[in-house]
Amino acid sequence: MRLRPHHLLCTQGYSGKGYSEAFVKNMDAVVHRLRTEDKTPIELVFSTDDLCSCCPDMLDTDLCRENEKVKLFDRKTAEYFGLEEKTYIYQKLASYIRRHITPDMLADICHGCSWYPASACREKITGIK
Ligand code: SF4
Ligand code: SF4
Repeated sequence: MRLRPHHLLCTQGYSGKGYSEAFVKNMDAVVHRLRTEDKTPIELVFSTDDLCSCCPDMLDTDLCRENEKVKLFDRKTAEYFGLEEKTYIYQKLASYIRRHITPDMLADICHGCSWYPASACREKITGIK
């Protein structure tokens, strides 16, 4: 499975809402897998990934309709957690992120995401409402 850095957060915060029916169906399947398996290898890519591929906002490879914004989400996530383009075990990496992230870090990474004020991301990822 290919995932871009900020989707390490979105997959943890996800609560069933998304950009389209196809996006939600794919996201449901991906998130179910990541939350029920113990050791899922993921290829971290600084580009569009297996969630983008079902999103109406993906215009082309490595091109999201909001490319500048999502690239910044990725850059900040990668910088905070020292991430590289390589294979990780999702559950191990997600747990590492949860142990180290603060509400301020999440607010910085997700600044400008339309889901941030409405979604459960903050509570699910940092444990703080
Ligand atoms: S607020 Fe947006 S960018 Fe941040 S984890 Fe949630 S969906 Fe992803
Ligand atoms: S909005 Fe952009 S970064 Fe987010 S899933 Fe869609 S194509 Fe990917």
